[in-house]
Amino acid sequence: MNEMSRLSVALPPDAAPELVEDVDFDDERQWMSGGENIWIRPLFFNVLQGMWVNILKAKGEGVISRHRHPAPVTGYTLEGTWGYVEHDWIARPGTFIYEPAGETHTLFAKGEAGHMTVLFHNFGPILYVDENGQQTGFEDVFTRLDKYRNHCRSVGLGDDFVQKLIR
Ligand code: FE
Repeated sequence: MNEMSRLSVALPPDAAPELVEDVDFDDERQWMSGGENIWIRPLFFNVLQGMWVNILKAKGEGVISRHRHPAPVTGYTLEGTWGYVEHDWIARPGTFIYEPAGETHTLFAKGEAGHMTVLFHNFGPILYVDENGQQTGFEDVFTRLDKYRNHCRSVGLGDDFVQKLIR
């Protein structure tokens, strides 16, 4: 035990344990498909508040169909270039974005680099919409958790791999 840890204050008894997760970018089993040319590595599922955090990787023509965010999203670009069809800006490594509640957009990875790796924090569900803004489907922390659990079972990582990401 070092000096710092001896000085630290004990957690309140009702506090949840911290979550510390190492991502292996080379272990394909950790990445589930998010559509054509898109891979998702969940890091945190918050089932009390309906939030989740994941890394999204996309290559070439990677596109995420048009969707509305009833709750905010933050994103931090680790690699590549990407943007939204509905906006003029292009995010590059180091670019942070905050999308307020109510945003509707279509993500594309093509950009200059032809790929992207971005850390996203979704503060609530995603509503998939058509060209007229009519809802066609949704994703929330529970559907996302379900998908990743099924994925981890199918590649042999097992349920514990997912369970440790839930608070
Ligand atoms: Fe989005």
